[in-house]
Amino acid sequence: MGIAVGIDLGTSNSVVATVIEGQAVVLADAEGRSVHPSVVAFGYGNAVVVGHRAKQQLAYAPENTVFSAKRLIGRRFNSDEVDRIRRMVAWGVAEGPHGDARVRVKGKVYAVPEISAHVLAHMKGIAEQATGQAVDGAVITVPAYFNDQQRQATRDAATIAGLKCLRIINEPTAAALAYGYGQAHKQHIVVYDLGGGTFDVSVLRLDGELFEVVSTAGDTFLGGDDFDGAICDHLAEQLKAQTGLDVTGNHSARTKLLEAAERAKKALSKVNAVAVKVPGLGRDPAGNPIGLQTPLDQGTVQRLVMPLIQRSFAVCDEALTEAGLTPGQIDHVLLVGGMTRFPLVREAVGHYFQKQPLDHLNPDQVVAQGAAIQAFALTAYSDRPAAVLLDVTPQTLGVRMVGGFLDPIIPRNSSIPTEMGKTFTTAHDNQGEVRIQVYQGESRIAAENELLGEFILSGLRQAPRGEVKVKVSFSIDADGIVKVSAKDLETGRSVETTLQASSNLTQAEVEELKFDELGF
Ligand code: AMP
Repeated sequence: MGIAVGIDLGTSNSVVATVIEGQAVVLADAEGRSVHPSVVAFGYGNAVVVGHRAKQQLAYAPENTVFSAKRLIGRRFNSDEVDRIRRMVAWGVAEGPHGDARVRVKGKVYAVPEISAHVLAHMKGIAEQATGQAVDGAVITVPAYFNDQQRQATRDAATIAGLKCLRIINEPTAAALAYGYGQAHKQHIVVYDLGGGTFDVSVLRLDGELFEVVSTAGDTFLGGDDFDGAICDHLAEQLKAQTGLDVTGNHSARTKLLEAAERAKKALSKVNAVAVKVPGLGRDPAGNPIGLQTPLDQGTVQRLVMPLIQRSFAVCDEALTEAGLTPGQIDHVLLVGGMTRFPLVREAVGHYFQKQPLDHLNPDQVVAQGAAIQAFALTAYSDRPAAVLLDVTPQTLGVRMVGGFLDPIIPRNSSIPTEMGKTFTTAHDNQGEVRIQVYQGESRIAAENELLGEFILSGLRQAPRGEVKVKVSFSIDADGIVKVSAKDLETGRSVETTLQASSNLTQAEVEELKFDELGF
């Protein structure tokens, strides 16, 4: 019999853990490393490398080295977010047959779940090597803010990797589990999660084995990458002022500056000032090499990144308002994500919540540990009950009304699983079908939200307008995944619902992409 693991599939890094003798243990690779870059590099021929080895390739072959793919998962090609990502990366972003964003490397186009599947297969391999046992299934974590498409795509990635996805749980909920499972706490906590690409904040009520998410808010474009970007822009300005070299649009030089920015940021967690040195950025007209050499201190970085930290507090305000609580009413603050190692972030969070955040948990590992606890509890061989996770849906689910407005059906922060119904009537005489477009998001304008899909209720009775009534039930399951069913109220007959315009892979495509036994 194999084991069940928890996988924190992060934007920059991933971690795998399992429960051994009652403890959630993070599993390390043969070199003793427990945090693995979520980077997939395509080399010669069909060779694919993942993790630390792949990250090494980033500096000399950025166009073949895919990082931050999680930012693209479940997204449409034609969206502002995808435009932003395209400007950030050296590899290509292409449009898939479902209007989905895909990755183009060396002339070949990959669905994003395929890229994530390589990361998952890598983590599975690490777990198998570390424990000497086969991995049967995994609980995979996603940001609380992920919408339906992003969750489905993550599940597809697991299937492609040959990994049974036991459950998708939210990262902050997983962190809360690692903190409180089996502790019989009775308190309100906040999980402040600032990772490489996303920011999430959740307010939870803990009561023994009950973990209830009271509210959640987030920004899918706020994370360490933005801190690196802000520092990188500053370094690029310094370079231009010193040497006249402009690296705008020069991916290779910008990658080097970005890496230097991240190194400096990490170093500034421990010291007050560093000397940034980046050789080989270009050549002057005489052919001499140009590099950057500049001092960088905490004060300068504070000025550069403070607006980003402030943005996270606007999101905290939102979550607390939804929960009906003030910062002072929060008993404990848990920090998650590599960026919370940054002292400026810790200090600012301490000020905002008027209490020092807890520091006995490892912010890089706590999510995978929580996922491992839930994976263990969900599998037959555990004699301990799974914690009761009462999550909420992070975004409003609604349908497009005449005039282009969104009619909210399941408001954000509703407890899940949940089901809500709405009755639709025909708008024309003898209307044989009703077309319903389902969106997720907070804008009143339907088109400004994420289109989940289009449902066509067909085979309706021929009748004058307004006479035929169809009840559509929208449900969100424990994984946060949306399902729709419809019933003709007059006849009681279930009406077939056909999902169109979804950007996700079809089941057949997922099957087709499945890796063989070796992982790829
Ligand atoms: P995660 O997605 O949680 O793995 O977070 C990764 C982000 O945390 C990256 O932007 C890293 O640069 C950042 N990070 C990791 N360690 C540190 C550190 N000691 N100081 C500052 N930032 C860090």
